[in-house]
Amino acid sequence: MRKPVRLPKPLIDEYEWQDHALCRALPVEEFFDMENSRGGRRERQERAAKEVCHRCPVIQQCLRHALAAEDYGVWGGTTAHERAEIRAGVAPFPVFAPAPALTPTPLEAAS
Ligand code: SF4
Repeated sequence: MRKPVRLPKPLIDEYEWQDHALCRALPVEEFFDMENSRGGRRERQERAAKEVCHRCPVIQQCLRHALAAEDYGVWGGTTAHERAEIRAGVAPFPVFAPAPALTPTPLEAAS
């Protein structure tokens, strides 16, 4: 039996940034429901979700994850359509203003 050459990274290292996500306290529909909307309603939903993202301290990590793995909803300050354009090379990788400093999660603060 062949032994693995390299073990995968622990998942906690890959997803620890999600502990700091501003959207954790919000209904998931605010970031995904626009998939069923059209026109002005969809634009308002996307704009509202992106405004949350632009205040989020982990927007860069979220965007990198979303470009690799997420085809629906608003992630990392981008819509699904915008991420498809970035992946296809027809839109540049967005540069966001520096995010606010990370604050300890409730678990980190308690320890
Ligand atoms: S960037 Fe937006 S979708 Fe990503 S974790 Fe932050 S609030 Fe959530």
